[in-house]
Amino acid sequence: MTHINPHYAELKDSFLFYETKQRATDFAAAHPERRMLSLGIGDVTLPLAPVVIEALHRAVEEQAHRETFQGYMPELGKDFMKRAAAANYARRGVTVDPDEVFVTYGIGDDLGSIGGLFSRENRVAVVEPAYPAYVDTNVMAGREIVPVAGTEENGFLPLPSQDLAAELVYLCSPNNPTGAAYSRAGLQQWVDWANARGAVLIFDAAYEAFITDPDVPHSIYELPGAKRCAIEMFSLSKGAGFTGTRLGYTVVPKALIREGRSLQSMWVRNRSTCTNGVSYILQRAGEAALTEEGIRQSRRSLAVYRRSAEILTAALDRCGIRYFGGQNAPYIWLRCPAGRDSWGFFDELMERCGIIGTPGVGFGACGEGWFRFSCFGTPEDVAEAAERLVSVYGQGSDK
Ligand code: PLP
Repeated sequence: MTHINPHYAELKDSFLFYETKQRATDFAAAHPERRMLSLGIGDVTLPLAPVVIEALHRAVEEQAHRETFQGYMPELGKDFMKRAAAANYARRGVTVDPDEVFVTYGIGDDLGSIGGLFSRENRVAVVEPAYPAYVDTNVMAGREIVPVAGTEENGFLPLPSQDLAAELVYLCSPNNPTGAAYSRAGLQQWVDWANARGAVLIFDAAYEAFITDPDVPHSIYELPGAKRCAIEMFSLSKGAGFTGTRLGYTVVPKALIREGRSLQSMWVRNRSTCTNGVSYILQRAGEAALTEEGIRQSRRSLAVYRRSAEILTAALDRCGIRYFGGQNAPYIWLRCPAGRDSWGFFDELMERCGIIGTPGVGFGACGEGWFRFSCFGTPEDVAEAAERLVSVYGQGSDK
């Protein structure tokens, strides 16, 4: 008999997105007359930048001719894409060697595989509320999870305490789901804590493009000492609209050494064994997205999502509902009114406003009583959702 991985039995059911979809579908079936509005999706809705589309067309055409045809790509990424990533850092004054860049189909893949560098004995601190993959991939690997709770009191930006017992830490800033983003000083505390203990930080920069506050670092490598303790993951999914196109990269610095071994060399060994490279066509698209022009064009979509965040936060202000985020991230994290729990508010919001959101408790126990709005909906839906919120929960309404 084959023995299966026993740790799958320890996973919580992936309840959140399945259950929200199920409840929304049942409600819509029972109320066919109501137009439902979704503030639940964490997926972009606007098309790719024109320079990206041109790069895709050009690369497809190259694959049509013997002279320009490309076969397997290097496992770690094609040089032009690694250089584009390094240039993206250089714009922020950060030096990253192209050899430290590992091109990937999206960082969801790397979040799943980066654990291969570390033994099972490591305790994993997850700053929660958190993207569920941080916990689930480590539970699958049999590692102990140490939740670090984000709360209203710490602004959903917990700092490391001296007695935090963990060797690996997952940080996401700006954060999904809370939208909270560490300042330079806050993130530096995590870097110093990790260097003092020989811990490793996995820094998820998926929402970097949404940062507007000059005191929020775009990369953890902007902070002194970070190259000695942090792996950074960068995705084109949300900032450049690549959720369905797929591209990202992971940076493993050469200065990151543990137990006498270079994690960069180990990751080269891992990727060249476990992957076969990323599509040439998509790497050309990624290269185009990271040019000055690509970034400028993508900003037009980001401006639309930002405007949605402004409309929704203005509505929440009028309702007197407390919230975080919406400034450096496409997510707004709000306290469920009248002491409702997350699922109770999900049902209530659906029934009273015809709005679908995401219950905060699905992102960790400390998310109970909180709720996530995403700003990726169409501007028309967002405007209507804001109106409905104000008419039901605004001043003078019966709440
Ligand atoms: N990290 C966070 C915090 C996310 O929200 C997401 C996607 O929603 C991902 C990673 C996955 O990104 P990718 O599309 O690059 O796999």
